[in-house]
This record gives sequence, structure tokens and C-alpha cells, in this order.
Amino acid sequence: MHVRRKLVAGNWKMNGSLHQLTELGAIAAAARAASGVDVAICPPFTLIASAVARGGGIPIGGQDCHHQSSGAFTGNVSATMLKEAGAKLVIVGHSERRAEQQESDAIVRAKAQAALAAGLQTIVCIGESEEERMGGHAITRCSAQLAGSIPELSGDAELVVAYEPIWAIGTGRTATCDDVREIHGLVRKVLVDRFGDAGGRIRILYGGSVRGDNAAELFAVDNVDGALVGGASLNAEQFVPIIEAAA
Ligand code: PGA
Repeated sequence: MHVRRKLVAGNWKMNGSLHQLTELGAIAAAARAASGVDVAICPPFTLIASAVARGGGIPIGGQDCHHQSSGAFTGNVSATMLKEAGAKLVIVGHSERRAEQQESDAIVRAKAQAALAAGLQTIVCIGESEEERMGGHAITRCSAQLAGSIPELSGDAELVVAYEPIWAIGTGRTATCDDVREIHGLVRKVLVDRFGDAGGRIRILYGGSVRGDNAAELFAVDNVDGALVGGASLNAEQFVPIIEAAA
């Protein structure tokens, strides 16, 4: 049985400002106090370099990257560019990008491969829609996403998987602990079947309306190795209790 440190990663989405980086001071202090927990923040691209400079040592990441390292891809940012800006990690395959930018599993996998190759800790997101869950297809959907989006392990950079049921994102509705246990168990099995012992070391995060008042029970579920937090990561007041719950 592997001991996996908890990882609490904040995804600011298209929120935040230079002013908001002042929140990072208190977040960094809480991260230092919770010595057994890894904490990271993924602000918009434009804030990454400033967040690295003012983040008090918290790893800063991007919310997406292109799968090519450079070229005629207007508006995109590559994993190597993120790395140069000081990013330590990147989120790929978030459901908002899968939906709004029509990102397929194959694209997500290519992005993840590029991110690992650039030496970034890479969080690959999966998760079913409400319709899929209601129709009894959550397992099939997540299995297909895992098969299609998880890259080969390469180099020293860490692969992380985040299970984020779409209907729980930003809605205030959280998956039940039983549902989380079932899907995280599935993810673990897929990872171990594919990568053997290394699959047992990969951290699996839960995401979707994680807050200070529900984090502890989610973190107690088997194979929940932390959280990917949206709304509640935007300020220290809401984010710090989640870090504390992971400690
Ligand atoms: P939420 O978002 O915590 O606001 O539900 C989670 C996410 O989208 O990563």
C-alpha cells in the first residue's frame, strides 16, 4: 500500500487579478503549516509569472497548454512556455475546455504527454456529465476518458488524475462519498493495470464543489489523494480550511 501525500490544487479559471495575488501570502503560510500537504495554485496565464514572484513558494501552474512546443497556434501557450514562466504544473482536459474548446481525449492525451515532457506536474481531468450519471453510464464514461486521455509515463514529472463530475463543478452539489469511492477505485484499478506499481503511486484528486465543510469527509475516502478546487480557491479564507482538512 502506497502512502501518497495529499495535494490540494486551486484552479482560478478565468478569475483573479494582480490584486488578488495578495491572497497567496496566507495560502503559502497555511501550506507551510500543513507540512504533509502539497498545495498549488493555477491562475490565468497572465498572472503566472507574478504569482511565481509573489506566491511565497507555492507551486504555480497553468490551466491548459498546447500539445506542440511552438508554431502557428494563435492564442495558445505551450508547456515549455509555461515552464519558462516559472510554472511547475498544468491542468489538462478540464471539462470546461473539453466542452467549450471541443477537446477530445486524444488531444488531452497529447497535451498531457507534452506537459510531462516539459517537466511539468500534469493533472489530467476526467468526469461524467449529469446525463451520463443519471443514465447509469458514469463508469463507462470515466473508463473511456481514462483509456483515451492518460498519457504514457515519461521522465521524472508527476502525473496526477482528477475526477471531477461535471454536474458537481461550481454547482454546490458534491458527489456522495460512495460515488467518489467507486470512481476513484476504478481510476486506481485502471492505473495499476496499466502502470503496475507506479500506478499505485499516482495521486487521484476529487474536484467539484469542494469546500472547507466537506473536504475532510472527501479526503477520508479511499484513493482520494487531495482536491482540485475551483471557486473556493480564490481566497485564503475559503481555501485554507481545505488545506487544513488535508493535513
Ligand atoms: P468548483 O470547481 O470547486 O468551483 O466546483 C472545481 C473545478 O472545476 O476544478
